[in-house]
Amino acid sequence: MNNLRPCPFCGAEPTMQNTHTPYVKCLNCLGDGPRCAKEEIAADEWNTRPIEDALTAELAELRAQIGRPAEAIYGEYHDMRVKVDELEALLQQRDLDLSFAKMHLDQLKWHDAMTEKIPEDNWSCIRIVNDKLMWCHLPPEPEGDQPNG
Ligand SMILES: [Zn+2]
Repeated sequence: MNNLRPCPFCGAEPTMQNTHTPYVKCLNCLGDGPRCAKEEIAADEWNTRPIEDALTAELAELRAQIGRPAEAIYGEYHDMRVKVDELEALLQQRDLDLSFAKMHLDQLKWHDAMTEKIPEDNWSCIRIVNDKLMWCHLPPEPEGDQPNG
């Protein structure tokens, strides 16, 4: 015969009632299950408790959460904090890259605008200084040797 789960109302051990339509009954609180064609079906009906099973599982999970050592919770928090710091650093680096790219683009635009105004022989005045495109107007080099007097 199937094992019968304790009474859902009082927790006592129930008994199978071997009548023409068998059913399970708790003799402590008189709670009973549906009348069925067979004892096996009556036992299944008595033992099938989806709501109770779901609540029992949830209760076990919550008890496990409460029972977790503080170090485990702190460790999880610490790992998350490290990940957040890494992501913030990545974002900061990306912002730097973006601002550098924008600055470089501005310099290229400025360079394009300026080169239109610079005569051909002064092109050597455009230099990259400290990663920046710089332009200064230098006077043309004197031609030939001119020793100081
Ligand atoms: Zn009972």
